[in-house]
Amino acid sequence: MSKVDIFRQELSRKVCRNCGKPIPQSRINGLCAQCEDLELFQKVKVYVNENNVTEEEVAEHFNIPLRKVHQWIHQYDLGYNK
Ligand SMILES: [Zn+2]
Repeated sequence: MSKVDIFRQELSRKVCRNCGKPIPQSRINGLCAQCEDLELFQKVKVYVNENNVTEEEVAEHFNIPLRKVHQWIHQYDLGYNK
C-alpha cells in the first residue's frame, strides 16, 4: 500500500465521538455500541427518576427491549419504585 492509500484510509476512518474507538462507517450517530448504550442508559435513568413508570413503559418510550430495561433497573438499582 502506498503512503497516499494509507493517508486516505486514515481520513475515512470513523471514531466514536465519546471514547475515540474506531467504529464502522455505517454507524450514523458517531458513537460505538458501548457508548451508545451508556448514553441511552443515562436517559433511561433520568426518565425513571422523573416519572412513575413501569418497565414496560420505559421499554416502549425508548423503543428498547424489555429485557434490557429489566437488566438495567436491577443491575444499577435505579431508585425504581419497587
Ligand atoms: Zn465509544
